[in-house]
Amino acid sequence: MEQAILVLNAGSSSLKFSVFAIAETGELRAVAVGQVEGLGTAPRLRVKDGDGQRIADEQWDKAAVGSHAQALQRVADLLRARYPGGTLAGVGHRVVHGGPDYSAPLRINASAMAALEAFIPLAPLHQPHNLAAIRAVQEVQPDLPQVACFDTAFHRTQETVGQFYGLPYEYYERGIRRYGFHGLSYEYVAATLPHVAPEIAGGRVVVAHLGSGASMCALHGGRSVGSSMGFTALDGLMMGTRPGNMDPGIVLYLLQQEGLSAQQIEDLLYKRSGLLGLSGVGNDMRVLLASDTPRAALAIDYFVYRINRELGALAAVLGGLDALVFTAGIGENSARIRQLVCRQARWLGIELDDEANETGAPCISRPGSRASAWVVPTNEELMIARHTRELLAL
Ligand code: ADP
Repeated sequence: MEQAILVLNAGSSSLKFSVFAIAETGELRAVAVGQVEGLGTAPRLRVKDGDGQRIADEQWDKAAVGSHAQALQRVADLLRARYPGGTLAGVGHRVVHGGPDYSAPLRINASAMAALEAFIPLAPLHQPHNLAAIRAVQEVQPDLPQVACFDTAFHRTQETVGQFYGLPYEYYERGIRRYGFHGLSYEYVAATLPHVAPEIAGGRVVVAHLGSGASMCALHGGRSVGSSMGFTALDGLMMGTRPGNMDPGIVLYLLQQEGLSAQQIEDLLYKRSGLLGLSGVGNDMRVLLASDTPRAALAIDYFVYRINRELGALAAVLGGLDALVFTAGIGENSARIRQLVCRQARWLGIELDDEANETGAPCISRPGSRASAWVVPTNEELMIARHTRELLAL
């Protein structure tokens, strides 16, 4: 009977999941990948097997499946019917916030849950949903071991000075500091570099995670030394619907002069800005690249401009640059965006190999380029499954 690990990533209206079978050798193999979207409005389940073949595509009644717990129950039924011989040995969760101290995954028990609940104010839009998924599993299978893997943990190796804001010191003590996010993605890329790009793995590397959320991380010898995201996942690069770095005075202006409420500002910053807000066309980079409107072009220009500025800042933190690595939806799939970024990064010594870039080969810079450029696909789910296997000694 094959043992398996379930990986859960619960958002406000979605539940993403993956199932990894554990081979005798300890190797992890994805056997199912899926998501429930539209919880609360029009729930829909889509699942593929490990080869990318569709297993299920179902629309559900929102009255019957309104919560993460109900969605999880349905997903569990489907997986049990599909893999009758499998045994679930553990569940790994993506948990956005591990606060200032957790630098590694955490096995869930009552005191761990209390600690994670204390971080809800730091990530009110994400943390409650992550914890709801843990509780949903506890309700149906209280003895099943669960592990929380944090988006912040990988960045805890950063020097303390880089985690400060110039606010009065007591705010730092109260938790207002740079945490950094997308840590599971960066950790996966850092763990992959020694295999795909051993010549740069020990060096000064900036990784650009360009998905619907986007950030950059400076790695030195595979450890995080800087990140474009800070106290929340709003900072740094412009994203699909988030503005990225901006003057905090804008928030005051919106409150005091434009009369927006905190709720309206939150909506503006998380859902209506970024590529969507600037272009007026959409938040999907594919749509923007195919559009011929001037504002779509402006949004792309600004997206690339912000990447270039952050690249300069992170290269300064590293004291130079040996390599730039692209990952996530846009980074892995858009040769055009990589080309635009690398052109602006020529001053850092990156010479793009256009042919390699078109094919998305791991190395996309010319031989002899002073700094190299790479495409390394990320896999946060596999990273969570690895942590879960290790922590539970499976
Ligand atoms: P997340 O996991 O943060 O939701 P992904 O890493 O899956 O995001 O990235 C999603 C984004 O990747 C989409 O919004 C889309 O804009 C972009 N993307 C995917 N494929 C391409 C492509 N071929 N060209 C440009 N952008 C792409």
